[in-house]
Amino acid sequence: MGKKKGKSLVQHRELFQRMNYLYQAAHFALHHFSQNADLARFYCSTMKSVAKKSVLRMDFRIKRTLCKRCSSLLVSGKTATVRVKGRRQCHVVVTCRHCKTIKRFVCRPTQNHTTSSHQEMPLRTK
Ligand SMILES: [Zn+2]
Repeated sequence: MGKKKGKSLVQHRELFQRMNYLYQAAHFALHHFSQNADLARFYCSTMKSVAKKSVLRMDFRIKRTLCKRCSSLLVSGKTATVRVKGRRQCHVVVTCRHCKTIKRFVCRPTQNHTTSSHQEMPLRTK
């Protein structure tokens, strides 16, 4: 009788918490043990596999900080090179230093296109 307990507003709360923990652990491993980028890469690949298995979407701001090929955490100056190019249309090119894969993001004046790791990035539910 009465209210049902334990019903949360967010579905898959445990999985999102695990992904958030793995993302933070990857940042911690990269910033404090900078010679060991493999550990951060392992955490990020685990986070991607958790999202893929449970069919959860990551927020685009988090997805932009991950390399789609080798799952490296893309931090400008450490694991990624960030350049602004404007030949055809102004865009930002992020190059992974591990596998040399590039990502391109078109600059629009209304959107914020930072790849900084110091911002708070919420995970998207759907
Ligand atoms: Zn890469």
